[in-house]
Parts: sequence; structure tokens; C-alpha cells
Amino acid sequence: MVSWGRAFKAALVLLAFTILWSIIGGIIIIAGTFFGALGAVRMIPEPPYIDVNWSAVGIIIIIWIVGFLVSFLGTWASAFRISTQLAMEEIRKTMPVSAVPPAAQVESAPVPTCPKCNTPLTYVQQYQRWYCPTCREYR
Ligand SMILES: [Zn+2]
Repeated sequence: MVSWGRAFKAALVLLAFTILWSIIGGIIIIAGTFFGALGAVRMIPEPPYIDVNWSAVGIIIIIWIVGFLVSFLGTWASAFRISTQLAMEEIRKTMPVSAVPPAAQVESAPVPTCPKCNTPLTYVQQYQRWYCPTCREYR
């Protein structure tokens, strides 16, 4: 089980990431709106005195969507990263280190071979001796 302390620490990290991604998304939206507005609205001498460039307005809306997606996806990507990391640390903590490489230990132990026919010998626990299945003899 992930302890509450560690879970809250992860939540705090997520909060920092949420704020960070909100700022990034916010900058995209504000900057896009500002520069888009410069091109979208134009003063003209005759009524209605304001000329709206609708393609620029469309670009502003796209930038809003992009800014929202960046902050939304960034926040969720951070959440997945943090929770995965928390789970990985938990697995590493609960699993004893010696239990992790049993395959490596078995592999590293050299199996003796028969001096006559070179067949890998079998250890017989009952007699505590090595047995060659080809020669049918104990070595
Ligand atoms: Zn043999």
C-alpha cells in the first residue's frame, strides 16, 4: 500500500505540475488572443467603424483550443507519470532485493559436465553426487 504521506507528496507534485501546465496553456491563450486581436479588429473611418477579420477570430479560437489541450494533456500526462513512478517505487520497496535476480543466480552457477562424454551432469540430492545420464554413472 502507498502510504498517505507519500500519496500526499505525489499530489503536491501534481499540483505544482497542474499550475505549471495552466500557466503554459494560459500564456498560449493570452498571447494568441493578444496577437490575434491585433489582426482581427481593424478601425475603419465609416460605420460601423470596426472591421472584423473573421479568419483571425478563427485562429484565436484554435489557439484557445490548443492552449486548453496543452494544459489538459500536460496535467494528465504528469498525473500518469507521477502515479506510475509512485507505484514503481512501491514495488521496489516491497520486493526484497535478493528476490529480484533468482534467474541470474541459477545461470551463474556452473553445471559440471561429464569428463568422459561432456554431457551436463545431474545432481542427485539423495546421494549428494553428480550423475551422468549418458554414461549412467556417478561422477
Ligand atoms: Zn558421461
